[in-house]
Amino acid sequence: MTISERPVKRREDYDGLAPFPGAEEQAPAGGAQIWLTAAIVVAPFVALGAGIWLAWGRGVVLTDLLLAVGLYVVTGLGVTVGFHRLLTHGSFTARPWLRAALAVAGSMSFQGNVIDWVAVHRRHHAFTDRPGDPHSPYRYGTGLVGQLRGLLHAHLGWMFTDAPTPAARYAPDLLADPAMRKIARAFPVLCAVSLVLPFLAGWAISGGLYGGLTAFLWAGLVRVALLQHVTWSVNSLCHVVGSRPFATRRHDRSTNLWPLAVLSFGESWHNGHHSEPTCAVHGLDPHQIDPAAGLIRIFERLGWATDVRWPDRDRVEHRRRAGAHDEATAPTGH
Ligand SMILES: [Zn+2]
Ligand SMILES: [Zn+2]
Repeated sequence: MTISERPVKRREDYDGLAPFPGAEEQAPAGGAQIWLTAAIVVAPFVALGAGIWLAWGRGVVLTDLLLAVGLYVVTGLGVTVGFHRLLTHGSFTARPWLRAALAVAGSMSFQGNVIDWVAVHRRHHAFTDRPGDPHSPYRYGTGLVGQLRGLLHAHLGWMFTDAPTPAARYAPDLLADPAMRKIARAFPVLCAVSLVLPFLAGWAISGGLYGGLTAFLWAGLVRVALLQHVTWSVNSLCHVVGSRPFATRRHDRSTNLWPLAVLSFGESWHNGHHSEPTCAVHGLDPHQIDPAAGLIRIFERLGWATDVRWPDRDRVEHRRRAGAHDEATAPTGH
């Protein structure tokens, strides 16, 4: 047994290297949850295969692509600007109608209802990369096999375990908000809308059922799958691969991963985010593309967003680690 595989007994003893206590003992989720999650995760891939087969030899229909991009942007910004920066971290205050609209848009991304999403993400920040984190890639330790298992767990394996995050504890503010409760209850309906909308649009634009079907596949299921995997990559890759220019809390190994910046709307500047979680900007350096922050800037100019927490340059420089490079896998202690 190497030092990195040494099991730890208690949460306080965690050294940043060993598997989390009880990592092997976690019960799998109940049958219904497993089947539902599997359907949500697997169905888009079946759709991708079907979509490629249907499109083979006929090229890609421009309508499908435009609908896919449009819905990707709307639902993706719903998650990043709405679920994440507004509702989880309170990076700005939005007019009530905008707050509700962003929560609806995010709900259409098949990532769980808004209240549960926020609760899980707040717990991730409370226990980042140490016992208690719902989706840390360090769960099974820092050995090669443990690290690979951990990446799979952080990406989507965690959704198959029975580890409920109590919303009453982590998101009491959202539970107390009637609009958010209503939107959370409407989650299944909003998922259905997210798929029916491209189907109807494709049908109407092409004038045929076949056009509705290909739009459903590309702008519905495939678009959902792409956004899911980009979001999940922030949970998995953005705690393992990339640079760590800013200081974070002890054990927190969040990274900045530039290749995902555009697709994730700036969320992959994850080290910047973990160093200043309530900041409306995640790409803290000027060259770091952050479309979500750009949209918040537009909302502010329109008077729809107030109290925006823009970065404080002195604070950012204070958090910058001297001579920091790609040290994502090195244990961090401050
Ligand atoms: Zn994180
Ligand atoms: Zn966050």
